[in-house]
Amino acid sequence: MSFSQRTELCGDLRAENSGKTVVLNGWAHKVRDLGGVTFVDFRDRSGLVQLVIDPTKIEGSGEIRTECCLAIHGQVRMRDEAVRNPKMPTGDVEIEVTSFELLGPAKPLPFPLSDEDQMQSVNEELRVKYRYLDLRRPAMHRKLALRSAAISKMRAYLDARDFYEIETPIFTKSTPEGARDYLVPYRLEPGKFYALPQSPQQYKQMLMVAGMEKYYQVARCFRDESQRSDRQPEFTQLDIELSFCTQEDILQLIEGLCVTVTNDLIDQFSLDLEKLQPFYRMTYADSMNLYGTDKPDLRFGLELFDISESAGESTFAVFKNASEAGARVRGVRYPGGIALSRKDVGALEEFCKEFGAKGMASFYVARDANDGEGVITLPSGRFIRGGCAKFLAPSEADAILDTAKAEAGDLLCFIADDYASANNILGRLRNEIGTRCNLRDPRVLKFGFVLDFPLVEWNPEANRWDSVHHPFTAPKTEDMQYLADEPGRVRADCYDVVCNGAEWASGSIRINKPDVQARVFDLLNIDAATQQARFGHILEAFQFGAPPHGGIAPGIDRYIMLLLGEENIREVMAFPKTGQGYDPFMDAPSTIDPQQWAEMGLRLS
Ligand code: ASP
Repeated sequence: MSFSQRTELCGDLRAENSGKTVVLNGWAHKVRDLGGVTFVDFRDRSGLVQLVIDPTKIEGSGEIRTECCLAIHGQVRMRDEAVRNPKMPTGDVEIEVTSFELLGPAKPLPFPLSDEDQMQSVNEELRVKYRYLDLRRPAMHRKLALRSAAISKMRAYLDARDFYEIETPIFTKSTPEGARDYLVPYRLEPGKFYALPQSPQQYKQMLMVAGMEKYYQVARCFRDESQRSDRQPEFTQLDIELSFCTQEDILQLIEGLCVTVTNDLIDQFSLDLEKLQPFYRMTYADSMNLYGTDKPDLRFGLELFDISESAGESTFAVFKNASEAGARVRGVRYPGGIALSRKDVGALEEFCKEFGAKGMASFYVARDANDGEGVITLPSGRFIRGGCAKFLAPSEADAILDTAKAEAGDLLCFIADDYASANNILGRLRNEIGTRCNLRDPRVLKFGFVLDFPLVEWNPEANRWDSVHHPFTAPKTEDMQYLADEPGRVRADCYDVVCNGAEWASGSIRINKPDVQARVFDLLNIDAATQQARFGHILEAFQFGAPPHGGIAPGIDRYIMLLLGEENIREVMAFPKTGQGYDPFMDAPSTIDPQQWAEMGLRLS
């Protein structure tokens, strides 16, 4: 017998195969030695089937330990009625083993991979160190199978629309996407370095100048940023660029791709998700105003409200003083928040302070005159109490309830600060309230477009304008008039795809005229010499008949996270780094030989 004679996959075996002689290849998932008989859950990538071994007949069967690799020769038979397992697709049958070959014995394991409950408490670094074992778990297999299917469906969607898949270099020069570069020393000229691409941005634009018209790439991107649960030093984007296209063409392409691929995957993998609906569309300005963020979670409403206009007349000193100092007074409702104790509300204020709030004012909207102590009846017949209620003139309180669209039982929370800070704090508070009130349904993926981002934002620390997206983004034609004097007012042909409070894709129509590109570089305080040194190649290329073009790049890792409801990006990558960007399996990054230092002309300072 040889393993190469494999006849069946474990997960395929059913009652109708009963009586068949089979050869299986795989791993011993779980071994139960009951004295007279040994049961083995036997696994290959298709699933599990139960083996039955009579140790008196099968010589050497004691060598079969958990996770050893085996070829099995045996016969399929029906299990006794009483021990059939309806939870297992192969639970009606078992394999009576006639002989086996030990293809790869296994040492005792560093963690119990057949026990999903116990795996939950295994240290993540240990899992990554032994990733080849961790990935044997059916749950991990499923994630990578889903990822593979997702990428293949994305390719099929774009291939069917005549896109070319083109690879671009990894050893290159810095492309600004706002992060630090990973650098690779150049041996032939010490002191020179390649940068690993933060994205293929410049190359894909050059492919448009080169007349490729429709490009995509499953592209690895490298960004040296502080690590978070949704970030890795290297990650994968579906990078797309088109020529002769409008913003609308790109939005329709990406929405079509996302809806088609997602709904296919929901079926194929029986994902516990509702089918995707058409994308919503919202401007950046509305998104900030209504949700305090450019990546709103629209699985729920709870729009922010603004009482700045009347705050100057307030009888509540906090509102009045803030308004006189030029701050805005904005708020959000917490449905059912009347159930929170004074201590709970204090904790909510602490939450806001973590994001820079100086304080948080609040009061409850009571249900009737007896709903707690100190209820105030308003002229409209509504009731409020607690917090700053007693400082507000009744008519003012009524107006606030109207503006807030408050309902009985709400807690109203207020932040007085500049517009951006108030939005940042309230946007986070709104999400927190959404989580606490169970409004963030894990079965819903609410995808949408946020449009018309500003071209630049003021960076007070560096005292300059920075690109909101990247410096190749085209200003809106109608806003070009403000470029010189009021750059903060210029909107860009720039769009994000957002889902459930996270950014999924970012893109824009690009500048294709060298003079406009140079003006934008000027605005970003990149002087002429630096423009030439860093971007001279782009400025020159644009002088050879550069077509109008634009693109977008959705994140593939993040997409798989959304589909699986994973909070941690490491769960959807085959070989992730740990939180510090460390690979415990390879022990990378690692030191290099003295000879390599010398070859590179490098010395540690
Ligand atoms: N290069 C951009 C990014 O990585 C995407 C794009 O503008 O197409 O965010």
